[in-house]
Amino acid sequence: MVSTCRTLWITLLVAFGALCATPARAQAGIGGTPLTTCVSRVQPGDTVRGVLANTGRFDCTTRQIAFGRGDYWILSGRLPAPADPAAAVRVRQVSLWQDSLAVYAIAADGRITGSLDDNVGIDRHIQLGAIVEHRFTPDGAPVERVLWRVGGAANMRGIVVGARVTDDIESQRSNMLLAAFYAGFIGLCAGLLFYNFALWRVLQHDFQIAYCGLLACLVIYALSSSGALAWLLPGLANNRRILTSYLALSWGMASALAFCACFFERRILDGWPLRLIQMVTVIFGLLGVLLMAVGPIAINPLDRIFSLTMCFAPVAVGLVVWRAWRRRSDYLWLFALSWAAPVGMLVVRSLYNINLLSWNFWIDNSTMVAMSVETLTASAAIAYRIRVLSHERDEAVRQEAISRELADTDPLTGLLNRRAFLSRAITAPGSRTLMLFDIDHFKQVNDTIGHDGGDEVLRQFARTLRLHAPPGVLVARMGGEEFALLGEESAMPDPDVLLANVRAQRLPFDLRVTSSIGICHGPLSDENDWKRLYRLADKALFQAKAAGRDRAGRAPLSMAA
Ligand code: GH3
Ligand code: MG
Ligand code: MG
Repeated sequence: MVSTCRTLWITLLVAFGALCATPARAQAGIGGTPLTTCVSRVQPGDTVRGVLANTGRFDCTTRQIAFGRGDYWILSGRLPAPADPAAAVRVRQVSLWQDSLAVYAIAADGRITGSLDDNVGIDRHIQLGAIVEHRFTPDGAPVERVLWRVGGAANMRGIVVGARVTDDIESQRSNMLLAAFYAGFIGLCAGLLFYNFALWRVLQHDFQIAYCGLLACLVIYALSSSGALAWLLPGLANNRRILTSYLALSWGMASALAFCACFFERRILDGWPLRLIQMVTVIFGLLGVLLMAVGPIAINPLDRIFSLTMCFAPVAVGLVVWRAWRRRSDYLWLFALSWAAPVGMLVVRSLYNINLLSWNFWIDNSTMVAMSVETLTASAAIAYRIRVLSHERDEAVRQEAISRELADTDPLTGLLNRRAFLSRAITAPGSRTLMLFDIDHFKQVNDTIGHDGGDEVLRQFARTLRLHAPPGVLVARMGGEEFALLGEESAMPDPDVLLANVRAQRLPFDLRVTSSIGICHGPLSDENDWKRLYRLADKALFQAKAAGRDRAGRAPLSMAA
């Protein structure tokens, strides 16, 4: 067990290391050369040449988000002189919410090349990492500046963000590294999703299905936020792709909270914390629906609501952790470990969303990195939780078996009691032989050696019967000093041998006891059969007693048949 745990942790650490290393290198890959940007609002009648002829209208100091929604021209600073003037230039920036986008390359000789795309057309320029990229091949003079025209910019995080120039090789390298990063993440989530779903089909724990929901949302989020969705669905408007990310995050959050609510022992969140978490879960669920329904026409207020709601998530998770700590949950440390990264990420993202942090690749992909850590550690947590649950279930099954056995046995002798004997006696059709035993003059035994001594005699008598009853023959204490044996005729022990063994028993104070037996053979397939068989055996026992005790009496066959 210890070595399994160690192997698991080492695997987690290695996987985490690999995941952390990938975006760091990918960031270098998309690094290129950052461009400075200046902003000017689009005026009626503006043309590209007209705008370029009047660069004084550009504001290079005010932060982009201060401009609000609208149509804008963005002019870059001068591009660095290229090592190879004939090499293609790739202009990249983060994909943002906008209606249309035009990117123009202004060459040193004043030539202008570029294209305008509507929201669907932007798809053609999406690269992995949700980067919008335009490629320009210099025709004589190198590219000197870049001019963007952004139509209907929501401007929630900026108008043109993360603008950089790079070359073909760096762009391809970035795509390759990001492909590995996202494929790894999606593969990890999809693998865990199938695994947990299969496990849920068998074990049916609520937290497993909530976790599957979270994993499914993460796969969708990875596809949409990476930009891969634009490749898979070329007709999809870019704003719809962004909305899908919002939706996946909202529903992912709802699933994560539902997971929190049912992962712990019932007693941990009982009462208002559970209701609060359920309420926040529903809010996230509804927010997703609202985003999909009215997102395209009201993205700015919805984005604010989304950011605010996201702030609730760490609070809700904090509450869960606090309760789990106060009520001493066995799963607290695993839970805290697996959710530390996503909660940290949420805090960073919230700061970015309210524009207290500026964009960088780590923030943009923090969800992926944090959720990779969470996914792996939560899987370990789930495995541990399932292990504990199986132990609990095995223990419950064991306890049930013990209590069933206790309910079926006579506490003094350990033989079957009358009730259990009866329920087992009437099983299948066919004839059975019943032997009823009654110890002779037992009252005298009690009088001679006391009640405790009498008990010991009863125990010894039971031992003798058990010893001589072959497998398949039921042995029971019917009450007091009355015992019974029941089985098929051929399996029953010889009554005279039994009587001799009873006589030969070694008892306290060298006491000797004898027993009388009443034997009856007949059908035993229902309650009535049993009553008749018992009555006749009892009668035979009475006759044995009357005939002088220490002997067996048999009911005539004709009477039992
Ligand atoms: P016989 O059957 O030979 O006619 O005589 P007997 O003395 O055995 O008579 P009877 O069956 O009436 O008495 C049974 C006695 O068994 C009465 C009761 O005190 C005693 N007895 C019943 N249950 C227990 C028990 O659990 N422990 C002890 N020590 N005695 C018991
Ligand atoms: Mg009796
Ligand atoms: Mg008796």
